[in-house]
Amino acid sequence: MTKITEATAYLVDLEVETKRTDAVQAFLKQETIFVELRTDDGALGTGYSYTIGTGGTSVLAMLREHLLPRLLGQDARMIEQLWYDQFASTRATTVGAITSLALAAVDIALWDLRCKRAGEPLWQVAGGFRPEVPLYDTEGGWLHLSTDELVQGALGSQAAGWPGVKLKVGKPRVEEDVERLRAVREAVGPTLDIMVDANQSMTGAEARRRAAAFEPVGLGWFEEPLPADDIDGHVALARSTSIPIAVGESLYSASQFREYLTRGAASIIQVDVARVGGITPWLKVAHLAETFNVHVCPHFLMELHVSLVAAIPNGRYVEHIPQLRAITRGELAVRDGHALAPDTVGLGIDWDPDEIADRRVA
Ligand code: MG
Repeated sequence: MTKITEATAYLVDLEVETKRTDAVQAFLKQETIFVELRTDDGALGTGYSYTIGTGGTSVLAMLREHLLPRLLGQDARMIEQLWYDQFASTRATTVGAITSLALAAVDIALWDLRCKRAGEPLWQVAGGFRPEVPLYDTEGGWLHLSTDELVQGALGSQAAGWPGVKLKVGKPRVEEDVERLRAVREAVGPTLDIMVDANQSMTGAEARRRAAAFEPVGLGWFEEPLPADDIDGHVALARSTSIPIAVGESLYSASQFREYLTRGAASIIQVDVARVGGITPWLKVAHLAETFNVHVCPHFLMELHVSLVAAIPNGRYVEHIPQLRAITRGELAVRDGHALAPDTVGLGIDWDPDEIADRRVA
């Protein structure tokens, strides 16, 4: 038994590292909810979760008032049992975003402890498949950027050796989207992967129309074309286009992914370790996708996802959006367009306690 003796949570606000906009929202700030668990062998496990601007204090209250007290005296090694107990204790508010984000912060702290007990990095403990994974850049593709800025961003990524970029779509007129995508394709040539993301902004009819207009550009995937709960719409769209359909950043439980996969509604799975409730359910979704011969390309949180994608055979890409640099030492290591999974013991994130303390808001 490795008994949990202390469980605390706090909230840290991080400014956005660059202006980020899409068809429906802007990234206002990263509310970062930390959980720290101490065990009777002297170990400290740190987990975290996030929002892009609202709800952070709600996640914090769920943790402090409800979830964390249940952990005291429990065996930190029993990760499946603890996840189930925490989930079952929130039946009145699951499945939901606030609860899943809270569950994730706890689960990730437990995995940090598991890695430290093993003396191994996360990418090994979670599976161990390959030490580096391809990286694509989203930072040069925001919706407010001009066509020229998109072209310069994509050329910069290509020159750095990155295999892909992602561009936001959802301009009022389809011709604007097409003009922006064509300009980038003409500049970079045929070999760079170009992905597009509509952030759930379209109707089914509009998404089918845009997909047909985008097809000649040659796209890696069409991400979140429709509201995440419109599974029928995704099925119809997937049947109507040759562009792979990507979903996952707005799904909050593993079983929601099963529905998409069994119905052929998506062929790229973007499961987000915070929004799905932690590493425990993330791995279940990733392995489920493998049984459907489908790739996993997780949303955001590259500092954690690099290790998780490195742990599975069906990982395809990690998304480059740096957002923890203010509170960590060092940066994600990148070589020839690939992110290297950290080989240090634990999650592989070198937190800076002083910088975290400076930004603590609750
Ligand atoms: Mg997206």
